[in-house]
Amino acid sequence: MKHLISFLENSLTPYHAVANAKKFLEEKGFTALDERDNWNLKEGGKYFVTRNGSSLIAFTFHKDGNFKIVASHTDSPCLKLKESPEMKGNFTRLNVETYGGLLHYTFFDRHLRIAGRIVQEENGKLVSKLYSSEESVVIPSLAIHMNREANSQFAPDPQTDLLPLYALGDAALKTEAVARDLYVVSAEKPFINGARGEFLSSPRIDNMTSVCATLHAIANGTNGVCVAAFFDNEEIGSCTWQGAGSDFLKSTLKRISLIQGKTEEEFMQSCASSLLISLDNAHSVHPNHPEKCDPTNQTIMGGGIVIKIHANGAYTSDALTSAAIKTLFENAGVKYQYFFNRSDMKSGSTLGHISFSQVGIPSVDLGLAQLAMHSALETFAHADYAELKKGLSAFYQSEISIQENAVEL
Ligand code: ZN
Repeated sequence: MKHLISFLENSLTPYHAVANAKKFLEEKGFTALDERDNWNLKEGGKYFVTRNGSSLIAFTFHKDGNFKIVASHTDSPCLKLKESPEMKGNFTRLNVETYGGLLHYTFFDRHLRIAGRIVQEENGKLVSKLYSSEESVVIPSLAIHMNREANSQFAPDPQTDLLPLYALGDAALKTEAVARDLYVVSAEKPFINGARGEFLSSPRIDNMTSVCATLHAIANGTNGVCVAAFFDNEEIGSCTWQGAGSDFLKSTLKRISLIQGKTEEEFMQSCASSLLISLDNAHSVHPNHPEKCDPTNQTIMGGGIVIKIHANGAYTSDALTSAAIKTLFENAGVKYQYFFNRSDMKSGSTLGHISFSQVGIPSVDLGLAQLAMHSALETFAHADYAELKKGLSAFYQSEISIQENAVEL
């Protein structure tokens, strides 16, 4: 829990999440690889590779075995700074655009910071560096006296209402850089709440809980070739060089396979026998709006790991892959439950079905139940986090193999 809380607090952007993951993995004996180098993998070795500094794939190497993959995302909805962001006058405000589907109103009157990466010139080279501002910023609301409709019909306009206040009078952004990928993100501190201390509220519960639990599981002991993939850009559709829609996963798996001495055909055989867990949070029944939930599948915080199913393929789970995971969890004493959307509501989606287009691996969609997804402060029941770590460890330690119409456990 301690590690999760500091991970949530310090993983302000995907760049920070990957830097924190890297540090954790190195402490656990994983070795960094570069996509541009030859890989010299040793039997039983533990490795990781990053792309763009915002996506990371960790794996354990063995000569034999299929892949056991857990994939999640490192990004969260926020605001992104444009070039020349200073809008000067009596005040300096920052010109931003929205990144992903954030709940706009939750970013008002909130502790925010500027973070991401900057590219600076150093010894004749352009070098990318992590950045997080010392100064905090806020987006002040308009007082109720000046906006009498605020409680009934306020729809914030991103270009006018969501601009963070940066300074009294003129001020320039403090970063010296050739170029920047900087975001305005929630800097609220995580805190425990509830009568029994059962809840944890924090920014980025979607999806740092998945990232952190996967890191612990892969470091906790594995069997065969285990893979933990953390992708940037899920919140904007995954179609970037480092997103789940890219070849990052496929090319990493293929390299592992080639180094195992397998042929192209054997690689395809491996993929077809493997299992991918697409890990992203799900919606808990909302205490004030239980009617938003499916009538017979009431997903609830504290109810354990959620298996997500969708008739139209927004989630990748099917009867065979969910039976596999259900049995694995039952054998390991891990609590689980189901999530279905109400039939009259549009589903969100996850990176599972996007990675299908790159690499065809049977898959199941899992996650934790939470409230206020995409808010600047989200909430979940932290007992579920322990279940997730246990469930993922059981998966990584299993000998699961998927066949055409059967699963071997
Ligand atoms: Zn998510």
